[in-house]
Amino acid sequence: MILILGGTGEARELAARVPAISSLAGRVSEPRLPVGEVRVGGFGGVDGLVSWLRDNDIHAVVDATHPFARQITANAFEACARAGVPFLILRRPGFTARDGWQWEDSVASAAHHLPGSRVFLTTGRQDLAEFAPCPQWFLARMVEPPEPPMPQRIEVLLSRGPFTVDGELELMRSREIDVLVTKDSGGSMTSAKLEAAEQLGIPVVIVRRPPLPPAEVVETVDGALRWLGVSADQHHEP
Ligand code: NAP
Repeated sequence: MILILGGTGEARELAARVPAISSLAGRVSEPRLPVGEVRVGGFGGVDGLVSWLRDNDIHAVVDATHPFARQITANAFEACARAGVPFLILRRPGFTARDGWQWEDSVASAAHHLPGSRVFLTTGRQDLAEFAPCPQWFLARMVEPPEPPMPQRIEVLLSRGPFTVDGELELMRSREIDVLVTKDSGGSMTSAKLEAAEQLGIPVVIVRRPPLPPAEVVETVDGALRWLGVSADQHHEP
């Protein structure tokens, strides 16, 4: 049996193409569910995951979590090493960098170096606290409602991609946005804001991805299927 650590579009695509158990953290109240068997919630750290892998007779783990889900990736790497289970990271490439982007090593650093006063913030609910002390006005887009602490001057927009360039242009113009802050998540679902920012001449602050553990990494679902020894055009019926 294969375990897919999920919470991304790639994880759902992989689950549609190979029989597996998908695991979600349980952060989102109405998640987009993958095809097939799904379990929800943390494993209880590395020890919990080692036990879970053994109890469920897992033969391979594909970590297809979000590029910024650093803890679960570190835990899974260590747990698989301890349990002797082959481990692969499936990470889509980052955004194609454009001239003039302001790269930051962390969300906290981005919060300290905002080159604008009306900020379009797309770093997600869990990172909102980093911006709590900031005096700027924020349009913060996320999937689930945030909890304090958060900036005093804020409009929260609950929404889930994919987004279009026209939609992003309209949104940024209507809120008079003068800086975009995002993580280097990559993928096409959320890249429209970058095109819109470029068209509007708005500066982009982009947070670098955290480093990966020294595991094997592929960038595509087809790559993960090859690693699993599954033919790329094979489809399984749920
Ligand atoms: P994280 O900080 O790396 O993980 C914190 C803890 O949450 C882990 O130690 C683990 O708990 C649990 N966890 C995380 N992902 C899990 C999964 N797929 N299945 C079971 N338990 C999981 O994670 P995060 O950044 O909060 O992300 C949580 C989920 O949201 C992931 O599935 C990720 O793909 C998705 N997501 C994250 C972001 C982002 O920006 N971080 C964006 C979009 C989607 P235990 O130690 O108890 O096992």
